[in-house]
Amino acid sequence: MIQAWRYSGHVLPPDRPAGDDREARPAGSSTAGFGLGRIELARPSLAETDVLIRVEASAFGAPERAAASTDRTPGGAAVGTVVAAGDNARHAIGQRVVVGPEQPCGECDICRRGGAAVCPHSRVLGATTDGTLASHVVARARWLCALQGELALSSPAACLIGREAARAYAMFARASVAPGQPVIIVGADVISRFLVEFAVARGTQPMAVIPATNTEFAAWLESRSAIAIPITHGENAADSVTRAVRSAGHGQRPRYVFETSASPENRALASSLAGPAGTLTLLARHASARPSPIEYHARDQPRGPARPAIPGMPGLEATADADGICIGVAGAHPDLLPEVAALAVRRELDVDSAAELIAIDELADQLSRSDRTVNASQDLPRIQVATFPQL
Ligand SMILES: [Zn+2]
Repeated sequence: MIQAWRYSGHVLPPDRPAGDDREARPAGSSTAGFGLGRIELARPSLAETDVLIRVEASAFGAPERAAASTDRTPGGAAVGTVVAAGDNARHAIGQRVVVGPEQPCGECDICRRGGAAVCPHSRVLGATTDGTLASHVVARARWLCALQGELALSSPAACLIGREAARAYAMFARASVAPGQPVIIVGADVISRFLVEFAVARGTQPMAVIPATNTEFAAWLESRSAIAIPITHGENAADSVTRAVRSAGHGQRPRYVFETSASPENRALASSLAGPAGTLTLLARHASARPSPIEYHARDQPRGPARPAIPGMPGLEATADADGICIGVAGAHPDLLPEVAALAVRRELDVDSAAELIAIDELADQLSRSDRTVNASQDLPRIQVATFPQL
């Protein structure tokens, strides 16, 4: 048997403010479950190229908070040990591995042209197949990233390599930033935090546009030799960024702008910052670090995940008018995981301090008492990582 944690049939009204701990009411038919409940499932049978991973830790971020299904186990990224394998994957038994949500086929035309993150035949852990918030999860052996030898990482926080860090890495790689070019990162979340570290590792001094209230994040940026551009509500962010770009000695160089939250406001801001011949790299909404308010409400619609019409088009017009390039990133190719793990081994990527470890039972208890939007500390961005008892 395996144990899995799924949203059980209790919901809070969608307008319930965070911190309101009145007892949850039983679920109606049109809304998602709320509290996480533990269930037992039969051990799944494995295809020839599949492995069964005993989960040690699982990321619990925006995709898990936004998950709507009560009959699918959420969880898109985990670290654990391979305990069983199909006939063609037996070599993996005993390996400590990290997995991310995207499990593409690796064979179709889209995969072959670099689109593994949007492979139409992909299994997506926690979305199209049972995810990692369980004692065990099934994954495709070919995409495992073994954390041993030169890639040995013992921390449970290594599960962030499978998703948040891999997505930041994919964004940076897709933008093809040359060393020394102005890099501007809009957002104060874990993916933007990892982007800062990748930019620094590539010899660039990134500038991060963050809320002025995030003083801890500003101090962290300074410790990484990055430039914090704190923005107060109502302030003209474009002017502040232009001043920072100029004082960093970049003059009129084309900018590389990254946006990770997928909120319409941040996307419009990022696009306006890209400027002449700039490159704007956006993370897809389903892959973003946290749901925008619009997404959060969309989840409460009957039979979500229907999405509202694409917001932020005026922002994209700014990039088009500036003769710029807009790059969409929907996820990370699992082939990137070893490169990301290598950066973590070299301490150029700090997954440990980006993770707030919490035992799975405690997380389930916490969710039953508070709103799902309550997250780990967001002054210095962190993400919760659920740890599982090891037998
Ligand atoms: Zn494919």
